[in-house]
Amino acid sequence: MNHLLLELADTRQTYRKLLNLYWMTILLTIFLEYAIHGKEASALSSSNFIGSLTLHGFTLALVTGAVEILYRYRKMQNDWLLTLTGIIYASTIIWMNPQIGIVPAIFIFPILTSVLSFNKNRILAAFALILVTFAALYSASPELRVTMQPIHTIGILFLYTGVTVIALAITSSGIELLDNLKHATEAKQELLVKNILMDKLAKMDALTDMYNHKTFHEYLDKLIEQHERNLLPLQLALLDIDNFKKINDTYGHWVGDIILMRVAGIIKETVTPHDFVARYGGEEFAVVFTEKSMDEAHRLVEQIRQRLSVTIHPELDSQAATISIGLQGYEEGLRKEGLFKGADASLYEAKRCGKNRTVAKAATISNHVGA
Ligand code: GH3
Ligand code: MG
Ligand code: MG
Repeated sequence: MNHLLLELADTRQTYRKLLNLYWMTILLTIFLEYAIHGKEASALSSSNFIGSLTLHGFTLALVTGAVEILYRYRKMQNDWLLTLTGIIYASTIIWMNPQIGIVPAIFIFPILTSVLSFNKNRILAAFALILVTFAALYSASPELRVTMQPIHTIGILFLYTGVTVIALAITSSGIELLDNLKHATEAKQELLVKNILMDKLAKMDALTDMYNHKTFHEYLDKLIEQHERNLLPLQLALLDIDNFKKINDTYGHWVGDIILMRVAGIIKETVTPHDFVARYGGEEFAVVFTEKSMDEAHRLVEQIRQRLSVTIHPELDSQAATISIGLQGYEEGLRKEGLFKGADASLYEAKRCGKNRTVAKAATISNHVGA
């Protein structure tokens, strides 16, 4: 969970910004040191002061440079490194200015830096490390001991503790916020999936996994509109299983359902991805062919019919089921009603002429009957 917050921090390039801040702090520190101690130092030993200032700047540059190299060339982005660098910065500044009572307050910055990890243990570890470093500085620097009266030390410890408590609270609310965000995102995703499923359910026929009647009409409306604009080829085939009632009556509705699924499977397998198939009614299917000539559409429906006529169904005592097909090509101005009327009339004719056949009508093919 925490790594997500870190990613957020990454995207904002916080790490880079902090590194820049460290570089700027070096210049600022040297400038301030010079401004504060420059005059008194020149009276005492100027070279000594310049020397220690250079050493100070050099130490900080060395530490920051190492972090910079790891960041740039190793793509290493470690919050520990940033916190440690911050502690080194603060320690050297305190070491250089032990006589300024407020200076140990600078340790609050590494604590704040550790907030970026959004990890409570890291913050506590930074706090502990700061206490140890402060104690070490306190015992190693007699000047610091002189400057820091017990009341100052207590005050500084209070400050460290207070900032740590605030840092922990910020982390807690950050984690909580992210948790909420995660839940909200998950809920949104779930809703999206549900919507897609609902949309599919509303558009598809459950038994055959083909588009349903309503979707078919919506799609055909659009295709006809397109045809009228661009004169793209378009054909409609209506396919009706022969003697399906008898299948149901003889073998039961469940067998009828199996046959429906098989017929749907054959239709879907035979048409091309440019075509649109739908379960039009009970045992009727519709196919809209696009980007095809009438002959190509005719060849495809015949392929469906022939494949079905040789498919043996164990449920029908190893007999085959057959289908009759009416195919109508679209002509300009025919409109949807005309297209349907034509396909329906051809289907009726196919039934009337003995079933298991295709009747096709187009401007170019006047009355092609295939069986
Ligand atoms: P024709 O050769 O003239 O098309 O005759 P048919 O028996 O196929 O046509 P008819 O319209 O008389 O009967 C269609 C039957 O299809 C009636 C209906 O009970 C059945 N049917 C419709 N939907 C389903 C379905 O989802 N499952 C099953 N098993 N049967 C269905
Ligand atoms: Mg029918
Ligand atoms: Mg039928």
